[in-house]
Amino acid sequence: MKRTCPVCASATKEIARIPFIWIQKRYERSYGIKIIPLCEKDADYIYSKCETCGIGFFSNAPEGDGKFYKALQQNPWYYRKGKWEYKEIANLVKVGDNVLDVGCGIGEFADCITAGALFTGLEINAEAAETAARYGRRVLIQSVDAHAIDNCNIYDIVCSFQVMEHVSEPLPLLRSMYRLVKPGGFLVIAVPNNDSYIGSHPNAILNMPPHHMLRWNESSLRKAGSLLGVDSDIKFKYEPMDDAHKKDYLSYVAINLIHKYGDECEKVFNSSFAYKLKSKLLSRFLNLNKVKDDICANAYPIGHTIIAVMRKPN
Ligand SMILES: [Zn+2]
Repeated sequence: MKRTCPVCASATKEIARIPFIWIQKRYERSYGIKIIPLCEKDADYIYSKCETCGIGFFSNAPEGDGKFYKALQQNPWYYRKGKWEYKEIANLVKVGDNVLDVGCGIGEFADCITAGALFTGLEINAEAAETAARYGRRVLIQSVDAHAIDNCNIYDIVCSFQVMEHVSEPLPLLRSMYRLVKPGGFLVIAVPNNDSYIGSHPNAILNMPPHHMLRWNESSLRKAGSLLGVDSDIKFKYEPMDDAHKKDYLSYVAINLIHKYGDECEKVFNSSFAYKLKSKLLSRFLNLNKVKDDICANAYPIGHTIIAVMRKPN
């Protein structure tokens, strides 16, 4: 059965089918994680796009569970320090503001905002919440829905950083977050921007389930905002190309120079021998850091992340 859009419920178009076995092998080889089939063994993960708002989403695929994220978080890059989106949104926080960070991980954003603001984080991973507590950050092990029972309309800023791409049904979560925002306050959503270079990078395993369930862009964020009741007061911020993502970006540019994609499907998943060979050769070439820096020194397009800042009407 064809799924409707998880944001705006409009019609969608199937773009690619990715064999479960390929996903399983890739996670196992790259991260030592064994993905369990959802139901039918070997069933494909299906990637579709909404024809109205443009969000990309996977179906027939599970969200990552606690065990999956625990394994992934062993990688040092998982909680990248000094994130651009933290600095951008910290500028929005004033003394006396009441700030909620949903899916806050170890609560690093608490240290980025003015000491005169009150920070609360929500996190369902108990281990991350314990680490946050060791740093003296106020983090509750609670779902947004549970928190919303007693805390509607009390926050000046409710934010989530790199969270909304991990869920398959974003609207109920967004609605609960929006209820927590004071009239005149802000709902802030930072996600990977599928209209940046990452949207045309085939076989990007971390941009697939069980890690990423959704691929957002400005248009789908705008649609989500309007469904929440924010029609005009949405501003967008675009991350400049970050040093940590230069290599990814360069490999995307290079492969585009030497490989002609057949259709949109091949930009999501490409198992052809020609593509494999070219990427293998390129990955060797790209290890030359000097070349990487020279090529990356000029003309950067937008980087990895987009932030939507939505103001709740008074
Ligand atoms: Zn849609």
